[in-house]
Amino acid sequence: MCATNLKEQLHTDPVLAKAAVGEEVFWINPKLQSAAQGLASQELGMEDILDAQARLDRFAPFLQLCFPETAPQKGLIESPLTPIPAMQKWLEERFEATIPGQLLLKQDSHLAIAGSVKARGGIYEVLQHTEELARKGGLLQPGESYAKLAGPEARNFFRQYTIQVGSTGNLGLSIGITSAAIGYRVIVHMSADAKQWKKDLLREKGAEVMEYSADYSEAVKQGRAKSDANPKSYFIDDENSRSLFLGYAVAALRLKDQLANQNISVDEEHPLFVTIPCGVGGAPGGVSFGLKQVFGDNVHCFFVEPTQAPCMLTGMVTGLHNQVSVQDLGLSGHTEADGLAVGRPSGFVGRVMEPLLSGEVTIKDEKLYAFLQGITDTEGIFLEPSACAAFQGPAELLKQPAGQAYAAAQGLTPVRLANSAHIAWATGGALVPQNIREQYLLQAR
Ligand SMILES: *Cc1c(COP(=O)(O)O)cnc(C)c1O
Repeated sequence: MCATNLKEQLHTDPVLAKAAVGEEVFWINPKLQSAAQGLASQELGMEDILDAQARLDRFAPFLQLCFPETAPQKGLIESPLTPIPAMQKWLEERFEATIPGQLLLKQDSHLAIAGSVKARGGIYEVLQHTEELARKGGLLQPGESYAKLAGPEARNFFRQYTIQVGSTGNLGLSIGITSAAIGYRVIVHMSADAKQWKKDLLREKGAEVMEYSADYSEAVKQGRAKSDANPKSYFIDDENSRSLFLGYAVAALRLKDQLANQNISVDEEHPLFVTIPCGVGGAPGGVSFGLKQVFGDNVHCFFVEPTQAPCMLTGMVTGLHNQVSVQDLGLSGHTEADGLAVGRPSGFVGRVMEPLLSGEVTIKDEKLYAFLQGITDTEGIFLEPSACAAFQGPAELLKQPAGQAYAAAQGLTPVRLANSAHIAWATGGALVPQNIREQYLLQAR
């Protein structure tokens, strides 16, 4: 049934047909609704995001002790929002991009502890689980400072529990590093696309790494089965986790303050465009969900995926979500953007984003390296290839006729566009070792 559906759509849907032969595509979501409508029917809401934010605040004293690198920000894990005018000019000159207004970089690439966007969702879920265990175990009395959880008594307590996760690399890094530091036994199930240095770093930090020759979905499946067999093991389920999703969504509340502090307005006269690299969907979905809650119709969220692994695009265009894979489309699923090397999207995220996502772009691997070179040369900022996909949004959006038509349909007049802000959400890079950075830069030449 699904296969027939897909074959029919390949003939009738020009975007899908183009994606199926590995070409770059630009897709506007025909199911986009007003923010009010799109948010009304959701199982999660603003109160859930506020609850997540409050939990992170409770853990701040603990994080400062456990991870001294978070002390300057008082246990808050947050990244800079940086104007990148030289990169903006470079994109306009080299790629004939049309970027009215201001281009900014959200540097989740430089988040503490994990050096990627996974420091939001991954760490949040480990903390939520930790809070639950600590309360049940009588380690935490109501009102007590969470600093206590960094002490030897707590470490001994957490040692009896295991945390497991399936990952293409960065989620494993975030959960592995955090869990090991808290005292858990932690097992990371890594897919074939995971980079060697990420596995090495995890082992160095005290995590166990299981390697699979199969893709991400298989690593998740194996991890889930192994965890389910152990009553003291907790599995972090990237494909379905509400907790991860809410951890990512908190970013929107923080971004609101950052924009205000930089005197950047977001309102009807000042639209905000955000492009976020997408793997299984949790990170870009959670962040975008938060952004729609905070900025409503004034924020326009786009996802970007590699041309060989556009799983969310495939799920969204067909409406089949996790019932379809990029392999069904005839694509390999392989990409240098290891964080985005996912063949089957999260059905949970796809359904949440269906009425909220403005659209999607895809990007060829060689262009990731061009952007990597560009951001290094123009701004002196290093990003990993997956994160560089974020520039494809601003590069293509208003160059493409479909993007121009979208802007017109949204009432985004030239004056409003001139007042716009564009955020490329840089999702990873700070932990990449120097020798690998040099390899990437060589590859870009
Ligand atoms: C994980 C990851 C993403 C995408 O997040 P998903 O939740 O898998 O969609 C993007 N960029 C980088 C660098 C990542 O590690």
